[in-house]
Amino acid sequence: MAIVHEGCLTCPRCREYVIEIDPGDFPDGPPEDGESPTPCGECAPHVEADKTAALRTIVADWEICQDSFGDDISPDMLPVVITVPATSRDEAIQAAAEKLQTHYGSSVDHLYRTDIETGEWFGNDAGDFEPLLRICAVFVGEPELDDLDEISEVIR
Ligand SMILES: [Zn+2]
Repeated sequence: MAIVHEGCLTCPRCREYVIEIDPGDFPDGPPEDGESPTPCGECAPHVEADKTAALRTIVADWEICQDSFGDDISPDMLPVVITVPATSRDEAIQAAAEKLQTHYGSSVDHLYRTDIETGEWFGNDAGDFEPLLRICAVFVGEPELDDLDEISEVIR
C-alpha cells in the first residue's frame, strides 16, 4: 500500500508516491487524483516497452462449472474476445485476466460464483484454481472483428 508523500504524485504504473511535483508542470495546481501523467524513473522503461507492445486478442470459451447443486454445467455465457497490449502471450493473459475481473467483477451469476479472483479466469502458474476460461486462440496484431456482438462478449 503506497503511503501519501506531501508534495509528491503517484506513478501511474506502480502507484507509489515518488514523483516530486514540479509546480511549473501544473500551473492550475497538482492533479486532484494525485496521479502523475508521467511514470517514475523505475517504471519509465516498462511504459516505453508497453508502447511498443503489440495488441494481442485472446479468444476464450467457458469451462464447465458447477451450479448451485454441484452439478457440472456449461455456463450460459458467450465466449469472450479480449484485446490487450502486451509484449508476450503470458503478459497478454495476465492483462486479459485483469480486464475480465474489471468487466465481470468477482460475482457472476451464470458461474454460480461470488468470490472470483483475478488468477482464476485463466488459472495461474501455481495451479491454485481450475481456470474459468479455456483459451482457444491468441491473435497478434489487430484482427478485424466482423460483427461479433451476438456470438461473443467483446472486451476491449
Ligand atoms: Zn513507478
